[in-house]
Amino acid sequence: MDLKTAILSRILSIVFIAIMIIVFYLIAEKMAKKRAKNVKSLYVCPKCGSINLRYIDDILPGTRFISTTPSNNEFECIDCGYQGIAPKVDREQINSFREEIKKNKNNNSLKRKN
Ligand SMILES: [Zn+2]
Repeated sequence: MDLKTAILSRILSIVFIAIMIIVFYLIAEKMAKKRAKNVKSLYVCPKCGSINLRYIDDILPGTRFISTTPSNNEFECIDCGYQGIAPKVDREQINSFREEIKKNKNNNSLKRKN
């Protein structure tokens, strides 16, 4: 094997590895998208419509003996600070849910003016 073929085979192997990395990346991206699509419903903040919710899992030490399960469906909104029950909304209906929140807000502000 002369020097030229040695260099060529090395370049080819580098190109092959690069292609493998790209293919692997594309497959991983596709799988991540599929997984995200499979989540059908999300918890949505009833105040601002955000999906940045944190599950409140604080059980007071005293109540731990009485109830072993955390308070049901209690969330904290990271965007607006809302605390309480959050409804589970279908992924496709989140936008209409947010519009509904906006409508209610407008109605409330109108009522206050009158
Ligand atoms: Zn919120």
